[in-house]
Amino acid sequence: MTAHDPSHRDRAAALDAADPLAGFRAAFVQSEDVTAYLDGNSLGRPTRASAERLAHFVPEMWGSRLIRGWDEEWYDLPLTLGDRIGAVALGAGAGQTFVGDSTTVVLYKLVRAALSSPRVAGRDEIVLDSGNFPTDRFVLEGAAREHGASLRWITPEPDGGVTPDQVSAVLGDRTALVVLSHVAYRSGYVSDAAEITRRAHEAGALVLWDLCHSVGALPVDLDGWGADLAAGCTYKYLNGGPGSPAFGYVRAGLQGELTQPVQGWMGSDAPFEMGPTYAPHAGVRRFLSGTPAIVGMLAMQDMLGLVEDAGIAAVRTKSVALTRFALELVDDLLVPLGVRVASPRDDDRRGSHVTVDHDAFAATLPLLWARGVIPDFRRPNGLRLGLSPLSTSFDEVRAGVEAVRDALVEVGPATGRVGEP
Ligand SMILES: *Cc1c(COP(=O)(O)O)cnc(C)c1O
Repeated sequence: MTAHDPSHRDRAAALDAADPLAGFRAAFVQSEDVTAYLDGNSLGRPTRASAERLAHFVPEMWGSRLIRGWDEEWYDLPLTLGDRIGAVALGAGAGQTFVGDSTTVVLYKLVRAALSSPRVAGRDEIVLDSGNFPTDRFVLEGAAREHGASLRWITPEPDGGVTPDQVSAVLGDRTALVVLSHVAYRSGYVSDAAEITRRAHEAGALVLWDLCHSVGALPVDLDGWGADLAAGCTYKYLNGGPGSPAFGYVRAGLQGELTQPVQGWMGSDAPFEMGPTYAPHAGVRRFLSGTPAIVGMLAMQDMLGLVEDAGIAAVRTKSVALTRFALELVDDLLVPLGVRVASPRDDDRRGSHVTVDHDAFAATLPLLWARGVIPDFRRPNGLRLGLSPLSTSFDEVRAGVEAVRDALVEVGPATGRVGEP
């Protein structure tokens, strides 16, 4: 097929016309100079409702409620909002989810808490994989050093992710904790979380799921999986805005036996008693540390409302259709230029982004940005096409992949690499 085969345009138009969630796009702030935003898995677009909520917050909440805001709403917001994320997007019953610090810090606190659990006393291995996001690997390196534990590495296929059998192969009576991403940040591979959790429990280990690329894009069933702990970003598919705080989940039955390493007043049993010594709160509040980032918790509330209205099952259905269409375009337009697909082709094993590799992609990025086409570049040679189901249209995917093709053809002569397999 040629670069601008009209059949692609027709296919995109037909898919958009048949999309039951198409109306949700109007709920997002659009920017005129952006033709295709394909990075909603790194930073979701703002909703219009969030633009209003943030504008009103200063005069009506902060400005008029002042310190009373803490008693009226803010003190409980990390937990009430946590419950809402749990109900809408995590399959988590109330009292198990909190909104806390950055994902990195929440991960660290939960990892240290897990290692402190009496049920893994005497165990000194942490299972992780080389394909996980750097911060996850770095946090585990540091926590292992502090705890005198060692790391057991799994090496997943670059285009795939961690399988139950790979986990079984490293589990043993020394395993304290298994930490994996449900959806791999690079390939988009969806791991079988229920089965991996089951096998880890059979071996006596605890399991922590990183849900950064899952939450808001596909169904998660933490209670159903029997997961012990989880953490995830809110600025990706939950559109909380740059640096919005992460959530953490700790299974109710485990909370009482875990202590976390940053024992601040906001997680203590009676924060306003100003007592002489620390005692952890009885519930999930014990995983908080200091004064919560209320302003950072505003925007995600609007996206949660949209996900709730659409229903996470319908969000997933559109996500699969979007990534399938992206793969179809990639096969038609990019593979003939030597581009390689680095994401699963099986719909059930693919999250909401598609990664493609080519050595000339780094050189295409300035061209794409200048044309309002914004994918996510991952060194050394990967482009991630992140498709946020409620804000991305099929025609946006079409425009984006066509622009990538044009840019590759343009930089080809300079890099001498386009067209090579
Ligand atoms: C995006 C992402 C993070 C980001 O962590 P921050 O502390 O928010 O910077 C961590 N882990 C994974 C798997 C991610 O995809």
